[in-house]
Amino acid sequence: MRRTEPLPTWDELVALASEHDIHHVGVAPADVLERARIALVERKEAGLHAGMEFTYRNPDRSTDPSRAVEGARSVLVFAKPYLAEHEPERPPGVQGRVGRYAWVDHYGPLRTSLQEIARRIRRSGHRATAFTDDNSIVDREVAYRGGLGWFGKNANLLLPGAGSFFVLGSIITTAHYEPNEPVKDGCGSCRRCLDGCPTGAIVAPGVVDANRCLAWLVQQPGTFPHEYREALGDRFYGCDDCQEVCPPTVRLGGRHEVDIVELARHPRGQHPPDGGVQAWVDMLDVLEMSDDDLVAHFGRWYLAGRDPIWWRRNALVVLGNVGDAADERTRRVLDHYRAHDSELLREHADWAAGRLGLQSSERP
Ligand code: SF4
Ligand code: SF4
Repeated sequence: MRRTEPLPTWDELVALASEHDIHHVGVAPADVLERARIALVERKEAGLHAGMEFTYRNPDRSTDPSRAVEGARSVLVFAKPYLAEHEPERPPGVQGRVGRYAWVDHYGPLRTSLQEIARRIRRSGHRATAFTDDNSIVDREVAYRGGLGWFGKNANLLLPGAGSFFVLGSIITTAHYEPNEPVKDGCGSCRRCLDGCPTGAIVAPGVVDANRCLAWLVQQPGTFPHEYREALGDRFYGCDDCQEVCPPTVRLGGRHEVDIVELARHPRGQHPPDGGVQAWVDMLDVLEMSDDDLVAHFGRWYLAGRDPIWWRRNALVVLGNVGDAADERTRRVLDHYRAHDSELLREHADWAAGRLGLQSSERP
């Protein structure tokens, strides 16, 4: 039988995290997250979640750490940067833009690190479970309570001296660690994210209406709302605008960059078949891919039911916004979709063709 080891001290935990390139660590008490529970219920009742599941699915569960780990006393919170050291150049052709956090799989490597740290705690006889990108716990709220950062008006967690380009993870444990104090608000009178959102989705400081948020709309099933199609621009997946206008994030994020090329090869990450970084995606390639290829390339991203129809729908809207009506392949692809079996794709292709000035299959 394996002998138990002493519980790692706080300094030992911080050093262990550092070995995994995680330099932002905090501790929150494992109490019920009352504030987050009230906010989730209120926003759900007001319809601001727009059908979003994740932590909205079961607020009682996602706001109670002891539902995830019985007898929980502490939640260790971790933040790892995702801003790339070197940004890939935009390739030629009709390119769709991808939100920075989705360029490579950041969660697979983070999960591996946190599972290893959790194993070390378990060797002391305590329970400890790692959670990353998991609807078991509202990770931004525990990260706030654990002293990692403050809630920006754009609803992201902003780390002092570092900004918001971070992925978050946590370990819920029965071990006791001294909780940190929450960080004070650092937004002050700034409101650039509210003014900079292309759809006005930040309806109040810290409150995002998912019905208007482009990052959520690309993941939702159904017709892409007409009123937001032009605003989608070239975004194929994700939207970074409310972070890219944020002064502390822009000014300080560069101090915490990562090598995404190395992460794109991480053995525990999910990668497309051809490997590499997915910062730009060729929209015509997407519209010519088979279902299997679409799932293989983009299956790690959230999309309603993982149904390839939604990638095609998004690509048609982007094509309408940034395509070239004089390009023969573009016209051929649009003609194909304007005669598609799917009424929904036919309608989006008609919209794209109309936006490009192509009223029929004729040349413009
Ligand atoms: S992600 Fe984009 S659409 Fe959503 S709130 Fe931020 S800026 Fe607005
Ligand atoms: S843009 Fe300004 S208001 Fe918005 S999160 Fe950043 S600092 Fe806060």
